[in-house]
Amino acid sequence: MSVLNSLQRPRNLYDRRGVPRYWFNIAPVLAEHLEPLPPPQGTDAQMALVQRVIVPECLRQEMSAEPWVKIPRELQQMYVWPLNRPRRLVRLTAFEKELATPAELWAMTEFDSPTGSHKINTAFAQAYFAKQAGKKRLVTETGAGQWGTAVACAAAAFDLASTVFWVRNVMQWKQNRLQAMQNYGAEVFPSPSDCTESGRRVLAEHPEHPGDLGIAISEGVETAAKDPDACYVLGSVLNHVLLHQTIIGLEVKRQLEAADRYPTAMVSCFGGGSNFGGFILPMMGEMLCAGKKDVRFCAYQSASFPNLVEGVYQYDDPDHAGLLPKLKMYTLGTNWRGDTIRAGGLQYHGASPIISLLRHYGYVEARTFPKDENFVLTCGRLFAKTTGWNPAGESAYAIAGAVDLAIDAKGGRKHPIIVMNISGRADMEMDTYKK
Ligand SMILES: *Cc1c(COP(=O)(O)O)cnc(C)c1O
Repeated sequence: MSVLNSLQRPRNLYDRRGVPRYWFNIAPVLAEHLEPLPPPQGTDAQMALVQRVIVPECLRQEMSAEPWVKIPRELQQMYVWPLNRPRRLVRLTAFEKELATPAELWAMTEFDSPTGSHKINTAFAQAYFAKQAGKKRLVTETGAGQWGTAVACAAAAFDLASTVFWVRNVMQWKQNRLQAMQNYGAEVFPSPSDCTESGRRVLAEHPEHPGDLGIAISEGVETAAKDPDACYVLGSVLNHVLLHQTIIGLEVKRQLEAADRYPTAMVSCFGGGSNFGGFILPMMGEMLCAGKKDVRFCAYQSASFPNLVEGVYQYDDPDHAGLLPKLKMYTLGTNWRGDTIRAGGLQYHGASPIISLLRHYGYVEARTFPKDENFVLTCGRLFAKTTGWNPAGESAYAIAGAVDLAIDAKGGRKHPIIVMNISGRADMEMDTYKK
């Protein structure tokens, strides 16, 4: 019987406002219906490094076989305020009209997040567990900047220090976001920096190096490893990150049931897979348990970083320096050099192991939009015109995906119900839309 069935799910799954009291862990469902998640593979030194730098409770969650993981009470309260949950599932009637589609378009949005994206949902969880473990400082890297902002905000909420290594060429153009991180009290370094050995090594050869995520990860891990009071936190890809993000999908499920709707398709943008996974996994779990395949789960990426579409399903390094254990995932390889795109959050070489397994078994569809991003950003602008909200460039891929499906629906006899997840807003980087 389904773990999401009313008999199997916790009786008090939601509070009176509709905010989940548990996260949903799909690992045991995968083990029962497909195959167990392939574990990370690493040398003793890599495994020891992970033990030293990752938040201990998050490591436990990474391997957990429990379908429901209780959200600590204090954290659950923080999801309500200051994180403003539950998010609201809304129907986009003006947008439907503009497209003249017979499809119903619904959107869940992370617009009410204080830092502007879904990343805050796991940042608060990781900061909470770091604090519980007696840590004093969070260290991380950031590429597009949303993750760094979320970590800085969460660290401040739990009275922790935060250190962010930010890919230099992005940091240079996102001044508003830098100010937001500094308001939260973060120390922010352009990466490559001269505060780490890995940074200094790169700078010695290329003093003007623009930076990349791989270097920034090495700098962050190295810094955290040197400070026993510090933890290294990651914003996507890993199982525990997707676990925390299932708060999105659980809220969606409840609100879809309240609206008496069952989705034809659930669509979202895809970088490392955390917003997509958090959004779809509760529905996916229910479908797998019921032995059905009646919802399409569609991930949209850039042709510049098509990890799910063109990647190979194999063990690969999550970071360029190879400090961390290998993960089994759809990967383009750590030496992949995609062109820079506006939707910087979608630039990563690998896909979450959970989503990779589901893709391998044909439960996830993936498509790319061209590197020029013209169609994607046009869809983002149309969304802004018809709703008043400017979506993040990354989220515009979800909207473009929904538009694609809605156009396909024309002429059909059915009225598909397309639910999209909008991972964030664009306020701190409106230059994304500059022509
Ligand atoms: C980071 C980010 C993404 C991409 O990361 P996923 O882990 O694939 O969700 C998408 N949208 C926004 C707004 C982001 O900040």
